[in-house]
Amino acid sequence: MHSKLADVGLTIFSQMTQLARQHGALNLSQGFPDFPAPLALKEALTKHVMADANQYAPMTGLPALREQVAALIDRCYGASVCPENEITITPGATEAIFCAIQALVHPGDEVIVLDPCYDSYEPSVRLAGGITRHVPLDEGFAPDWEAFAAAISDRTRLVIINSPHNPSGAVFTKADLDQLAALTESRGIHVLSDEVYEHLVYDGLQHHSVLAHPQLYGRAVVVSSFGKSFHVTGWKTGYLVAPPALSAEIRKVHQYVSFCAPTPLQWALVDFMQQHPEHVEELAAFYQAKRDRLCAVLADSRFSFAPAAGTYFQLVDYSAIRDDLDDVAMARWLTEEKGIATIPLSVFYQNPPEGQRWLRLCFAKTAETLDRAGELLCKI
Ligand code: PMP
Ligand code: GLN
Repeated sequence: MHSKLADVGLTIFSQMTQLARQHGALNLSQGFPDFPAPLALKEALTKHVMADANQYAPMTGLPALREQVAALIDRCYGASVCPENEITITPGATEAIFCAIQALVHPGDEVIVLDPCYDSYEPSVRLAGGITRHVPLDEGFAPDWEAFAAAISDRTRLVIINSPHNPSGAVFTKADLDQLAALTESRGIHVLSDEVYEHLVYDGLQHHSVLAHPQLYGRAVVVSSFGKSFHVTGWKTGYLVAPPALSAEIRKVHQYVSFCAPTPLQWALVDFMQQHPEHVEELAAFYQAKRDRLCAVLADSRFSFAPAAGTYFQLVDYSAIRDDLDDVAMARWLTEEKGIATIPLSVFYQNPPEGQRWLRLCFAKTAETLDRAGELLCKI
């Protein structure tokens, strides 16, 4: 058949998780917690399933959950968004990203992404008939605004940003958002801001949400994920926030991609968010302790790194260990021969920098897993 995505294979996350299983390796590759989800959240889900909240939810999400999200946005960013017209609950951030792109991008439109970038953006743009323009972040994974400005053309429709940033863990500054606003304003370029790690920022740093940036929010779509914030990546629930006119267009796509997110999961999140507002407030400290533990156990290894500023990913440079192997080969070797699975950085680029020797480790793991990872990595 004539494939629409001829060069697309199985994602690196599926590949590495499969390889880890096959070799019984410790899996720090695909990003997901290996510890239990909050008990009260699981109990709430059971309660709603047993009470037969098992039929379709409203297309835009349960009103009670949209209200919880609006309250959270107000608490975190002091921004006021309308639960009725600006918030849509989706089956995962991935679906929200896909629907936003399908709604906004017309055939021949250009979409700027900043490399390295999350793997779902490019195929989603291509399925909309768009063309991605990849602008590399600088060596410290900060945006290069000159290169960005040079990539803007008459056909640029959308820019996709992601902070806190997967895979690097870097966090945008407020000045970055100001630059982005200034460079895109006159052409009315839309911004898709992937903020799924919004609550995972460390060392007193702050997450600067596009929701709190009036010049950007007026033409933006902001995406987040309950999966990341509530330790339930397998629930595949997320949401998008956009001004009413944009939301209305994206909802037209969402209603035919999935129609709605699963009902009992939404009710469980409502209960948990109501009963445990502290959960989100404690997330940064919770994950910072995990990052610190991973960095501490790696201190005696031959990997070099700078502690991640955000997300639950830590990049490590292995050039002092096996400079002869590229990162894909290194990730394979570590899984097959050394019992630990990671993600190579190069797969997140259109043109990976020559000679880059970085791997991504997920630290959303128990202390035992992190200590075991330290033992394995210090032997290499
Ligand atoms: N964006 C980024 C940057 C991510 O890391 C992820 C999680 N894999 C997603 C989007 C998708 O989130 P979800 O699992 O809610 O679809
Ligand atoms: N976002 C997760 C990661 O970066 C993976 C999600 C997936 O497997 N699609 O590891």
